[in-house]
Amino acid sequence: MPQPQSWAILGGGILGMTVALRLAQQGQKVTLYESSKELGGLASAWQLGDITWDRHYHVTLLSDGHNRSLLRELNLEHELQWVETKTGFYTGGRMVSMSNSLEFLKFPPINLIDKFRLGLTILHASRIQDWHALEQIPVEEWLRKWSGDNTTEKIWLPLLRAKLGANYTKASAAFIWATIARMYAARRSGLKKEMFGYVPGGYARILARMQDVLQKAGVTIRLNSRVTSIRKAEHGVSVKFADGSTITPDQAIFTGPATAAAELCPELSTEEQRLLRGIEYQGIICASLLLKRPLTPYYVTNITDPGLPFTAVIEMTALVDPKQFGGKHLVCLPKYVPIDDPMFEQTDAEIQALFFTALKKMHPTLTDDDLLTFQVSRVRQVFVIPTLDYSKKLPPVTTSIPGLHILNSAHIVNGTLNVNDTVQLAESFIPRLLAQVHPLAAYETVGN
Ligand SMILES: Cc1cc2nc3c(=O)[nH]c(=O)nc-3n(C[C@H](O)[C@H](O)[C@H](O)COP(=O)(O)OP(=O)(O)OC[C@H]3O[C@@H](n4cnc5c(N)ncnc54)[C@H](O)[C@@H]3O)c2cc1C
Repeated sequence: MPQPQSWAILGGGILGMTVALRLAQQGQKVTLYESSKELGGLASAWQLGDITWDRHYHVTLLSDGHNRSLLRELNLEHELQWVETKTGFYTGGRMVSMSNSLEFLKFPPINLIDKFRLGLTILHASRIQDWHALEQIPVEEWLRKWSGDNTTEKIWLPLLRAKLGANYTKASAAFIWATIARMYAARRSGLKKEMFGYVPGGYARILARMQDVLQKAGVTIRLNSRVTSIRKAEHGVSVKFADGSTITPDQAIFTGPATAAAELCPELSTEEQRLLRGIEYQGIICASLLLKRPLTPYYVTNITDPGLPFTAVIEMTALVDPKQFGGKHLVCLPKYVPIDDPMFEQTDAEIQALFFTALKKMHPTLTDDDLLTFQVSRVRQVFVIPTLDYSKKLPPVTTSIPGLHILNSAHIVNGTLNVNDTVQLAESFIPRLLAQVHPLAAYETVGN
């Protein structure tokens, strides 16, 4: 085995942690640097009133093989609680269940022929293996062709706007294909029923176990370490932090957003800068509410009616046993927004006034007295908008700065933003990265 190299993994989200673990398991010297005071990034946990739970709602699917295999390594996979969940729609000012085939047939906003075409669209999308051609077709054009105008306007466009806002006009049909493929895989392995899983204790427990496993594998973890610049060095890469300190590892992998990488690395070529800055992100404002009472039996309520300030209702305690929260009920109200949306400047109190009023409109029996806690998470760069020909516009992972690699969720080209695809991305790149560093050595393929 050649001499191990020193690696700095910059960013302690799921991607950075997985990369760090796999490199350490291959005998490399690894230090993981995270800007915040804890690991986990988008999957991190926070304190909500007197409970600790995920900052953003998270579930695991039966089909999440890479994630489940990592959980197995953490000795947590056997604890996954699998629950058959229900889905609702808020449409025409009322709540409608859409959790099985019969309810689908009764679904009010579209007629039987439209329903048949909708079912056919989903079936067709789930059978497509090669997604490349879909990248060249605007998503709306593809949906109108397969589902017809009525269903596109009444169902698809509200759902697309919910996730992408006005940016849906830029998205390719690969976006809807990837979304359908993930949900279809979940149902296929879960026998036509939707089964979601969670680990008791949520991501707080997963991350604590991950931290332990990382340290046992020899990874040094440095929290509160925000990278402020990455430059060429005589030997290795020069990485500077907010406290003024500098390190020069042999190799560095930045796992934060692509646009942030462009800012941090001014010595990248003009072409690399252009590609990194060309990646467009969507942001999120995500409110978590602790309530005294449940709202619905649905894990997700999709909203097709215009005018509501959030884009879905996620009732976490329709999945997680409320006993986990001392009998309280956890609801998340996400709103996906452009990265410069004025809502980012609003206070929690302003967002609470807006969101809770709308939630009471949806649930007229809900009162102010039912609300125990309201807390808001804001992230500007959450996921990449899969624009036309997206995979051809990606910057290469290994950069022109010797030893610097930029790998992040923008490199998930045929999936959606989720932990499973993130773990898979990390694991698929390790052999390639190591082969570049030690071209003559043979490395094991990691993960399953
Ligand atoms: C609302 C929401 C719901 C979700 N629901 C699910 C779900 O149900 N199931 C599922 O599987 N997935 C879900 N996901 C997706 C999942 O959270 C992500 O796929 C995953 O966490 C991405 O990990 P990452 O490491 O790529 O990115 P991130 O989590 O963004 O990690 C990047 C890390 O880099 C750090 N960083 C950035 N800049 C610097 C710097 N300059 N210096 C040092 N550190 C830096 C950040 O602090 C962060 O910790 C959800 C995400 C959101 C937002």
